[in-house]
Amino acid sequence: MPTLNKTPLQRKPRAIAGSVLSWWDIHRRSLPWRPSAGEVADPYRVWLSEILLQQTTASGAAPYFKNFVARWPDVEALAAAPLEAIMQAFAGLGYYSRARNLHACAKAIAARGGRFPCDEASLRALPGVGRYTAAAIAAIAFDAPAAPVDGNIARVLSRLHAFETPVAKNRRAIEAAARALTPTSRSGDFAQAMMDIGATICRPRNPVCMDCPLKAVCAAARTPAPENFPPRTPKKANPIRVGAAFYARRADGAFLARRRPPRGLLGATMELPGGAWAPGDVAAIGPVEAPFPARWRRLPGFLEHVFTHFPLRLALFAAEVEFVKPPGDMIWISPREIATSGFSGLMRKAAETAGRLVGSDRQG
Ligand code: SF4
Repeated sequence: MPTLNKTPLQRKPRAIAGSVLSWWDIHRRSLPWRPSAGEVADPYRVWLSEILLQQTTASGAAPYFKNFVARWPDVEALAAAPLEAIMQAFAGLGYYSRARNLHACAKAIAARGGRFPCDEASLRALPGVGRYTAAAIAAIAFDAPAAPVDGNIARVLSRLHAFETPVAKNRRAIEAAARALTPTSRSGDFAQAMMDIGATICRPRNPVCMDCPLKAVCAAARTPAPENFPPRTPKKANPIRVGAAFYARRADGAFLARRRPPRGLLGATMELPGGAWAPGDVAAIGPVEAPFPARWRRLPGFLEHVFTHFPLRLALFAAEVEFVKPPGDMIWISPREIATSGFSGLMRKAAETAGRLVGSDRQG
């Protein structure tokens, strides 16, 4: 293409990357997994943070990251930990398949002498490491010329080019735009700088273009409403699903719980026994899926929880029981063990709410 026909973005990618890096040298966010300026990144911490950040915000992932590195300071320590302990450390973060993959990946790295591979293709072969995560680790931990594109970077690049196609249908063009701008050195810093621009300046609803190091070359910034780029894909309405959870309590306050199957939603986390979750009316839920016969009574109200793909309403039932041996695959949990037994956030709330409601019944 003749030089005259090139846009400013195409003419000077090196200068644009330079502006972004200069901005980042001053404005970089301080995050628990980031080394200080000039320090070398630890691949273990980069990998761990990228796994925790999947589907989770930086502020949500930060306390989990600190707990993980305090308990397991290197990949060998994590590989030697029991899976239950890792599941427990994940409790409340959601997407529990990450915990199983984290453990499997730690074991694979420990088997290689604790060294992470540094190229994207080898990183992608590891459990739980997809296209984005491999590129992020290669760039941030090893300064390889990789161009990871997370949600923030996709938004910034879509605005930079005023792409009129929703992100989900424009991955190829966005990734090409990322590769075209990524410098051959400091590519990890560049990726983190773009993430920071997306998180702090080029925010989804109110981008602050006047503070942005890209404003001179940004196509969306020259329009009246840069926030309209990229166009949003209309969300599909997902019907509310409903279900029941059963709180069987014995006289000393312990209640029955069980572990969910290892695969699938909330896989391998602890739960109150219950039935399937299906579209319906929570007011109409009865104790038909109780795990065993007992004098089940419905507790007032219901719990609401929003998964990525559907909202859930959960009815709670309670019964006083007298078994000594728990039925089936259930175990007794005392209320003070809830926080450390590997319950998901939803099921922890269900157990605590049922315990409180049963307790207030008794006092009443
Ligand atoms: S100039 Fe504005 S729209 Fe463009 S990348 Fe920066 S903040 Fe986003």
